Amino acid sequence: MPFTPPAFMPPLEPGPPDSIPISEFILNDAHGREPTKTSRNPFTCGLTGKTYTAAEHAERVELLARAISKECGWLPSKGTEWDKVAGIFALNTIDSMTLAYAVHRLNGIATPANAAYSASELEFQLKSSGATCLFTCIALLETALQAAKAVGIPNDKVYILEMPKEFSGSKSVPFKTVGQLISEGAQLPELEKLKWEKGQGKRQTAFLCYSSGTSGLPKGVMISHQNVITNVLQFTLFEKHVREKRPKGQTSEVVLGLLPLSHIYGLVVIAHVSAYRGDEVIILPKFEMPSFLNAIQRFKIAGLYLVPPIIIQLAKNQKVCSQYDLSSVRSIFTGAAPLGAETAEELQKVYPDWAIKQGYGLTETCTVVCGTPQHDIWFGSSGCLLPGFTAKILSIEGVEINSYDQPGELVVQSPSVVLGYLNNDQANKETFIEDTDGKGRWMRTGDEAVIKKSPGGNEHIFIVDRIKELIKVKGLQVAPAELEAHLLSHPSVADCAVIPVPDERAGEVPKAYVVKSTSVGLEENDRMVARDICKYVEEHKAKHKWLKGGVEFLDVVPKSPSGKILRRLLRDKEKEARRKK
Ligand code: AMP
Repeated sequence: MPFTPPAFMPPLEPGPPDSIPISEFILNDAHGREPTKTSRNPFTCGLTGKTYTAAEHAERVELLARAISKECGWLPSKGTEWDKVAGIFALNTIDSMTLAYAVHRLNGIATPANAAYSASELEFQLKSSGATCLFTCIALLETALQAAKAVGIPNDKVYILEMPKEFSGSKSVPFKTVGQLISEGAQLPELEKLKWEKGQGKRQTAFLCYSSGTSGLPKGVMISHQNVITNVLQFTLFEKHVREKRPKGQTSEVVLGLLPLSHIYGLVVIAHVSAYRGDEVIILPKFEMPSFLNAIQRFKIAGLYLVPPIIIQLAKNQKVCSQYDLSSVRSIFTGAAPLGAETAEELQKVYPDWAIKQGYGLTETCTVVCGTPQHDIWFGSSGCLLPGFTAKILSIEGVEINSYDQPGELVVQSPSVVLGYLNNDQANKETFIEDTDGKGRWMRTGDEAVIKKSPGGNEHIFIVDRIKELIKVKGLQVAPAELEAHLLSHPSVADCAVIPVPDERAGEVPKAYVVKSTSVGLEENDRMVARDICKYVEEHKAKHKWLKGGVEFLDVVPKSPSGKILRRLLRDKEKEARRKK
């Protein structure tokens, strides 16, 4: 029997709407969101305090859509969504969602890219997604222009999202800003109304985010409007019992918007769930301890959405933290990578009143699969299934495990499971299992989990290992196959394999095992070659992909008869070496 959410979770009923765009669901009170009059301003800049009301936000979406329509020749009824793909390569701003919804208003697709990307990484995403315009910010302009040029996006289709002064400087650049576009939009005629057919929200891609899935290079994950709406509802229902206990008029709260809105966690949980619930998101472009702590104090932030590396810093930097008033904080929600029970305990000792909760999710499930219930917190656990999810644990042989405490691959079913990978039949076949019971497809997570019964009587999911080829550095994805392909283009590398190794601060970091090529001269010692290989990665890849785990030389990379790298052997070798240290 598959596992289902605990009885205290409200059901996902009626089913999530399948024929409206996300923005209508989020911005229109008719869909059950907190009424605008009691909700807070959805997005406020944590550095300058600049903000818009929900009504202003909705109006800016409409005006920006008019301007983009004129600039790019996009109309809601013209072409398909794939003819209207907009790249977004920017740090978080209070207009990030304005922009995404303006693209959706034209029946287009937003493809957000990690702001840490190098020009070649951005180029890969722009090319693969078919983006024909690019929104960036001044801090990232140089990289954005290089990538845009490489894929043929002309300079007049590059636009700037305004940032606070410390991120944009005072230099003016010859590109239109989103603010200018919105002003121009006010002078333009109204756009035709969106007319959606039944089921369009279920079929139409809204966001194209990138994930390497269970193996290989990063792939475009097609996330429908209904996928996002579903996870917003699932998360809202999951926390309903917490909010309902609060006094009337105090159900919305101020939350932190620091994690990148280009990653599914930031995009869906922080930006969408919060706007839907009438919360106010304090936007910060980047993690820096002083501005982070200052924003908590200044805006009296109650809910912190974090990743484990930031929690470690909070737990370990008491001297700095104690200089700020953090008494407004009520809860922490962490995800994207595992939070060890010891770290949670360490933090709890310092902040006994905080509810420290963990969630687990993936880009391919349009985020959260399970989360810690407020009344049944169990450190180390990733919590209970959210409403609308069903889960199975499969053994290596693919046999369903029905008992507790037995590890196996976690396989899930939910209306939030995405449409699939763009143009990649092979990966789709490997990851998504066809719908045989009419309740939707199953999705292989590539994570090893066990189900345990908590003292509170609920079934909790513990993620115990990762089966798939993925490295998570500070919650961000690093695809070993991407680094291996890059390393193979280095003249000193004949063969290689990249694996994750544990790191106290980042969770994991990549380490390369390298077989030297014959071109390496006898006079070059291993340290020199290793340094050169690391430099080669640093010159071309985003910082979280750097080989912080080092380079180790091998005579031969262990492989199966079919040529598949036997990563498990390398991981075991690494574990053994660390045990001996
Ligand atoms: P992403 O698509 O970037 O969100 O990455 C999803 C992957 O991150 C999952 O398949 C897990 O391997 C990992 N992950 C996310 N949340 C957790 C968690 N709470 N504990 C352990 N691993 C996690």
